[in-house]
Amino acid sequence: MNDTPEFSDDQIAAGERLAFGRWEFLKGVVALEHLPETGPVEIAFAGRSNVGKSSLINAVLKRRSLARTSNTPGRTQELNIFKPGHASLLLFDMPGYGFAKAPLEKVEAWTSLVKDYLRGRATLARVFLLIDARHGIKPIDCEIMAMLDEAAVSYQIVLTKADKLKPGKLEHVLGETHTEATKHPAAFPIVLATSSQSKEGLSMLRASIAQVLADYSA
Ligand code: GDP
Repeated sequence: MNDTPEFSDDQIAAGERLAFGRWEFLKGVVALEHLPETGPVEIAFAGRSNVGKSSLINAVLKRRSLARTSNTPGRTQELNIFKPGHASLLLFDMPGYGFAKAPLEKVEAWTSLVKDYLRGRATLARVFLLIDARHGIKPIDCEIMAMLDEAAVSYQIVLTKADKLKPGKLEHVLGETHTEATKHPAAFPIVLATSSQSKEGLSMLRASIAQVLADYSA
């Protein structure tokens, strides 16, 4: 069974403070050489194209359009970097991977950018790996998970679009995903269920981000 994340009121409040402060778009990069110098703690949001990543980032930070959402899968092609004004943290919005209809060389370019960043960045503290609750973990997600395991990069699975599932079904998917996560050495043992539409799970995700920052800034 998935453990319920246990956050104190203080941790939840720290998450809200972090998320609701001022955030700005730092830059979008298409190649690793354009990444900013390492220094601040980094977190990354990654997932298949159309998983709901931009919507989730906007909902977590209570912004309407900080991260660009789109009904056209595969539009987020750059690695976009966001920065809070009040903490030494960078949030990386990775280009969605696995967009089947894009030209092959484009898919390969994004996939290698995602992979090279994820496995090679010393200051990357945690990857939030987004999985559509309706679809569960797909082979391409497994590939990313295996790569993160091998590179020993800590990651946490976050189910998106939880509002699309009936409660019983969501519990089932959470259980299955948790079982899968426990088989992966670098996976954080708690799976979060979120919805940017119903706002479910958002305060837990904010608290998780604040906790990563607190742990790595200590
Ligand atoms: P991205 O490609 O991963 O950045 O995905 P987007 O954030 O652009 O979302 C892709 C599609 O999923 C859009 O049509 C969104 O409206 C929809 N979507 C995103 N989040 C949710 C959610 O929490 N619930 C529901 N029902 N739909 C969502």
